[in-house]
Amino acid sequence: MPLVPMKKVLDEAIKGNYGVGAYNVNNMEQIQGIMRAASETRSPVIIQASRGALKYTNMAYIKYLAAAAVEDNPDIPIVLHLDHGNSLETCKEAIELGFTSVMIDGSLKEDSKTPTTFEENVRVTKEVVDYAHEFGVSVEGELGTLGGIEDGVGSGKVMLTDPDEAVKFIKRTGVDALALAIGTSHGAYKFKAKPTLAMDIINKVVEKIPGVPLVMHGSSSVPQELIEIINKYGGRLEKTMGVPMESIKEAIKRGIRKINVDTDGRLAMTGAIRKYLGENPGAFDPRTYFGAAREAVYQTVKGKMIDFGTAGHAGDYKPMTLEEMKRIYK
Ligand SMILES: [Zn+2]
Repeated sequence: MPLVPMKKVLDEAIKGNYGVGAYNVNNMEQIQGIMRAASETRSPVIIQASRGALKYTNMAYIKYLAAAAVEDNPDIPIVLHLDHGNSLETCKEAIELGFTSVMIDGSLKEDSKTPTTFEENVRVTKEVVDYAHEFGVSVEGELGTLGGIEDGVGSGKVMLTDPDEAVKFIKRTGVDALALAIGTSHGAYKFKAKPTLAMDIINKVVEKIPGVPLVMHGSSSVPQELIEIINKYGGRLEKTMGVPMESIKEAIKRGIRKINVDTDGRLAMTGAIRKYLGENPGAFDPRTYFGAAREAVYQTVKGKMIDFGTAGHAGDYKPMTLEEMKRIYK
């Protein structure tokens, strides 16, 4: 099955009332670990690349790594998604490269730091939607701003999404998915104590526009055991908390369909590499410690696919032609 548009995968998730993880990738081992988890659990999967990842992989490598994932897993629906696109230009580049979904984060200006006005956000998002849908590509927008900064993205301030504005935004832009700011933040250092998320925002938006999949960014759980492995083997991470899995499950029940996970994959890989090299000081074959990192990504993502309810849903999606894809947006 070729790469699929995100809208179809998330529409199926609405019907089945489950969540689909969007996992950030930068290299082969991450993609392999994620795909092994998807294949074993029979899960549709969104692999996403940030602008930082596009730069790191020199664009072509990410394109062909995604193609390899497709070839290696013909029966798993895979979405290739651009995370936090900052302009129409960046989204065009990703579409050119073969991405089947793009995020235009119009909540921030092109510098990815300065918050925009509602009208500025509508304008740039609508531009991207009009362009992307012609290619059968799905679009995610964002309204409200998350805390935290990752890959240079974020204003560092939190501004929760106003549900009435969200409804207006969806109607005026035609976005296929909308990221809400409900109190999560990017990066490893999210919370000092167990967070309270503004879950009622999800219900308020879903009540008014039930058919639009909602997205939660900054949704790593930052498991303590991963922090402990890193610190046991020479790392120095401060005590921190992520979004507890029960909060994510609650959010899925209320209407969150795409759950962005980056930090947990990073922590898993770092822990595995530190542990391997700590226990095997004579090792110098990169396959040994990158192999351990790949295994750790697989374990982490597999657990999420089960917890998010994605497992077992790979068969929900049927392959489509480009013409059929374009029609889903009409
Ligand atoms: Zn994000």
